[in-house]
Parts: sequence; C-alpha cells; structure tokens
Amino acid sequence: MAGLITARGCPFRCSFCTIAQIAYINRPIESVLNEIRHLIGDLGFEYLNFADGHFFAQRARVLQIIDRMHEESHDFKWNAGARPETLGKFRPHELERIMNSGLQQIMIGAESGSDVMLERIVKDAKPEDIVETARITGEYGIRLSLSFMSGLPYETTEDLRKTIDVVEKVVTLNPQAKVINPIYQPIPGAPSYDQMLELGWTPPETLEAWGESISWNQQIEDIECFPWMKPAEFDEYVEVFQNSIFGKVRTIHFTGQERSADVSVSGTSGELGVSVAEAAKNEGTAASD
Ligand code: SF4
Repeated sequence: MAGLITARGCPFRCSFCTIAQIAYINRPIESVLNEIRHLIGDLGFEYLNFADGHFFAQRARVLQIIDRMHEESHDFKWNAGARPETLGKFRPHELERIMNSGLQQIMIGAESGSDVMLERIVKDAKPEDIVETARITGEYGIRLSLSFMSGLPYETTEDLRKTIDVVEKVVTLNPQAKVINPIYQPIPGAPSYDQMLELGWTPPETLEAWGESISWNQQIEDIECFPWMKPAEFDEYVEVFQNSIFGKVRTIHFTGQERSADVSVSGTSGELGVSVAEAAKNEGTAASD
C-alpha cells in the first residue's frame, strides 16, 4: 500500500484538533493524478491510502480523481478518512461511483454520540450522521473504522450513554465496523487544551512525561477523575463505560492473549481496533491485563 495526500490541513474546526489550526491548501489536481499514475503505473502499487486530514472535503474534487483514474483504466483499491456527515452529502449516483471505485475502507473521527458533546467540540456533525454513514457503508460492504473519544471536556455519563447507543446502532448497521475509543488527550495549540487548563488539568512538565502521557493504551482505569466531575460521578461514568460495548472492546484490545488473533494495528492502512463482532464472539475468553 502507498500513501499520498491531496491536500494539507482541514477546512473544519474541531476544538480538540490541531490540523484545523494550519492553513488548508490543495495540491493541484494534475499533481495528484500524476502521483497516482506513478504509484500504480510505474511502481506497481495496487492499494492507495489517501492520508489527508479530510480527503472528502471537496465533493467535486474527489469525483474528479475517481473518474479520471477510471477513464485511464487505473484500477486500484483505496482507503480514506472522512467526517461523519461526508457520505450523506453525496447524491445517490455519486455515491454509487465512489463506492464502486475500489474503495475498501473509510476511517471516521466520530468522537461522540451525544449531540451536546458534538456541539461543544465544534464537530459540525450530528449523531444521526454517524448512524447514516454506518448504514451506507454497510449497504455497500465497505469497512468502517470509527474513533469515539472518552473524557472530552465536560462529558457526562449521560453523554457517554448516548455514545454507547450510537455505537450499538453502528455495529448493527455495518457488521464490519471497527471501533476504537481512546481517552481524550489535550494537545497544545488546540482550543480544548486551554479549556482543560481552565478546568484545572495539569499538563506534563517534561518532554519525557509528555511522551509517556500520549498513549493509545491509556485506559479509563488510569484516570483518577475527570477535573469537571465529582468522584461519585466519575465512579458512575466508569461503571457505565466498563459494562458497555466499550468495556468489551477495550478488554480485548489491550489483552496480550488476544492481540495477535483479533486486533489489527497497521500504520499503513490506518486500521486500528478490534471489530465489535469479534469482541462479542470472544467475550469471556479474554484474560484481563
Ligand atoms: S478532527 Fe478531522 S474534521 Fe476535525 S478539524 Fe481535525 S482533521 Fe478536520
């Protein structure tokens, strides 16, 4: 698989993300097409990963890339990142072209199933958009990877419950859905970093401490309490989390016994997670760390 980007930055404004803070710049379309021709025609790659912050940001441009490659008989498989509402914005005949163009997998930063949280993090998307994306990809047999974050500033147990509801709908609509649920980690430069400081969060003091704190492996049990919650509220949050689909996925995701069999982690494909179907199948067989 070969990776390439067609544009730098992202035109959206999610409050936890630093990509939104840099200028959004397109590569000239001919430069993108030439790179694809080179990767496929000269180097023999059959699978491309469009690693843009948001590959589908411009509908017409995506269709142009797909159509031009099709006209030139360049057949290839591909992955790309999208936003929760992206697919819903394409007309049916456009979706048909995209879904039948070799697309294998879409990665989505879904973040939360709570409309209140999505508004708070300025995601500019709705929980229904996440569900609709699962329906469309499920219908076309496209793999879907979704990331939902826990511990976003001001998240409540009620918000978490709404996210769990959405995840359950997603995995019903697309049995190939893979879900990860990292704990939110503030990044300097993002608006929500300042929010966390105002809430009393203490940032790491050294580069080494930052290195240790940035980890996909951070688990809910590693957190003492979110700064905006009372201890009893946090206990309830953890209980709901652990007894949900998230508890099942995380248990297996980070268990050495299951890692090789059930967890796919690949920097090149962008795939990271364990399918919930696999999690459910293996429930009870995974040992806790
Ligand atoms: S999270 Fe994704 S959609 Fe939001 S600003 Fe960052 S790259 Fe763009």
